[in-house]
Amino acid sequence: MHTSDPALTDVVLEHVRRRLAADPAPLGRRGDAHELAAGLDGAIGAEPLGLDAAMRLYVQHIEPTIASSRSPRYLAYIPAAPTPAATAFDMLVSAFALHGDGWEDCSGAIAAENQALRVIADRAGLPAGAGGCFVSGGSAGNLSALVVARDSRPPVTRPRIAVTAETHSSVANTLRIIGVEPFLVPVEDHRLTGAALRAALLEDEAPETVIAVVATAGTTNAGIIDDLEGIAEVARELGIWFHIDAAYGGGALFSDRLRPAFAGIEHADAVVIDPHKWLFTPFDCGAVLYRDPAKAAAVHTQEAEYLGNPNAGEWNPSDYAYHLTRRARGLPLWFSLATYGIDAYGRAVDAGRALALATAALIEASDQLELVREPGLSVVLFRRHGWGQGEYEAWGELLFARGLAYVAPTKWEGRPVGRLVFIHPDLTLDVVREILATLEEPTPTVARRGSLAQVAE
Ligand SMILES: *Cc1c(COP(=O)(O)O)cnc(C)c1O
Repeated sequence: MHTSDPALTDVVLEHVRRRLAADPAPLGRRGDAHELAAGLDGAIGAEPLGLDAAMRLYVQHIEPTIASSRSPRYLAYIPAAPTPAATAFDMLVSAFALHGDGWEDCSGAIAAENQALRVIADRAGLPAGAGGCFVSGGSAGNLSALVVARDSRPPVTRPRIAVTAETHSSVANTLRIIGVEPFLVPVEDHRLTGAALRAALLEDEAPETVIAVVATAGTTNAGIIDDLEGIAEVARELGIWFHIDAAYGGGALFSDRLRPAFAGIEHADAVVIDPHKWLFTPFDCGAVLYRDPAKAAAVHTQEAEYLGNPNAGEWNPSDYAYHLTRRARGLPLWFSLATYGIDAYGRAVDAGRALALATAALIEASDQLELVREPGLSVVLFRRHGWGQGEYEAWGELLFARGLAYVAPTKWEGRPVGRLVFIHPDLTLDVVREILATLEEPTPTVARRGSLAQVAE
């Protein structure tokens, strides 16, 4: 089965070519568990199913039931919108199993990845010595960096890390994994400020056990950027680690218009940015950058007889996160940045921001709808009068079933609200109008998960 087979490659590439030519990408639909089980039944056995049959299963059952994050109509969670260059190059990275754990045998990949990381570090204003690596995403970045925060300082008993109610769930997960307790800072209007952090520490009985603060630059729920400058000042005064989670928002550093909102990010000890969110890179690509990478290497470098020669080179990405083997997942970003240039990224981010502002204006102009707050970055939160959780969910199901959009509701101050997130620069305002028009229809209801009924009331 290891014999080179150009015909097989052609079958797969031909399908990729056809799919990529479908522009815009189809949105997809949700699969039914029983149908999928029946469809895939017996696919893998001791004897071969064969190329054509396996491909048919993929085309019939698998692909259509994955909501395409490449579709401009995907507006849930944080969408992705990988560029054609990044998409094509990701295929190349996979095709040749391009790896990137150590300089010893992956030097070119690492040099290019580091060039892309440098571009991000420059936008953030981090010093020349800053560096890090690409990981699978924000969760892996937060975990890797907060371990460094804990272990690159004298130990304290029962250490705590300052967070807010808006801090991403992956940070709560990280703290549980690394055995650090959260120090929950109460904030006004969902935004951590230096003053709020200072006040919370003053009221606490053991402030010296707070070893780090996590600021968010673009909250996932609402796109709010914390007071990075003020928090940096408190962190500097106390000599604690200043971590910035910019997994979603970080791409906006490339917009000259939005960059000022990130003032203070240049003081961070570590920054986490997901290129697979607002830097138009395929999954799974997160970046973790350290002000002083030597601290990260001291914590993460693994040593063993079978790990080869650690002194063979310049830079080992495996030293800057908890991982070891990794695909060179930063190369698609590198290729795309080189292909289109940095300015194109700023323009694409601005397009998402402009769509969010225009959508907010449409919502404000509607009698049925209420804008929850000015959009933070590219997140729009809104209420439809009279709706509860069930109606927002049913509306989402209806949009998905009609192929109009993929959306997911959220909660704001305890109450369910609608949420739209704009990343894809090619989404048009006409499509947004089409989506918002469905909010004027009779209230939808859902009979049960996955099946849909619209009941006029
Ligand atoms: C998405 C997100 C994460 C988690 O990133 P993954 O890539 O999903 O692991 C962390 N923090 C913030 C602010 C995010 O938006």
